[in-house]
Amino acid sequence: MQLVSPSQSEIQITLEVAIGLVNDLGADHLEVRTTLDAAGFSRASTASAASIARLETSLSELSPLLSALPDLDTEQARTLVNEELTELAISPSIADHDGVGPHLHWSPSTAPFDRQVIADIIMAIAQELCDNGTIRFGRCGAEDCQRLFYDGTRNRSRRFCDDSRCASRTHTADHRARLKKG
Ligand SMILES: [Zn+2]
Ligand SMILES: [Zn+2]
Repeated sequence: MQLVSPSQSEIQITLEVAIGLVNDLGADHLEVRTTLDAAGFSRASTASAASIARLETSLSELSPLLSALPDLDTEQARTLVNEELTELAISPSIADHDGVGPHLHWSPSTAPFDRQVIADIIMAIAQELCDNGTIRFGRCGAEDCQRLFYDGTRNRSRRFCDDSRCASRTHTADHRARLKKG
């Protein structure tokens, strides 16, 4: 059994959500509010339309950094993330809600929702760099797919994005290639 602390699991959930949203930027099915709501961001359902719109803009601005992470070593990533951190206004507190156990919140509940989400994402990236470096940030191994993923597997065995077709079409192609050789 793998023991995961509340902050570790919050970091992972936040990174997976951020990567999922960045993957869907520009796609016609971008669903910022429902995605965040499903991931447990309690203010997502009541956030204003303006806040959601600002969040989409901030996510586009953050997209180049997230997209670069799989190709960066930890030191390069640290430099980029430190630049983001100098601009980030946070006001941390220890929270304990919904039975998760004590963990840090980076913004007060009065902060605009989009600011809260962006602070959560940047702090999750920063904490991930301290814990694991960049090794868990990956890009889909399927041909013609550039989607990103966060590899939360214990032995870092993840190869494909969350689109199940990528794994299956690659396995089919591998199988055909093997048949040809044989
Ligand atoms: Zn929390
Ligand atoms: Zn893919």
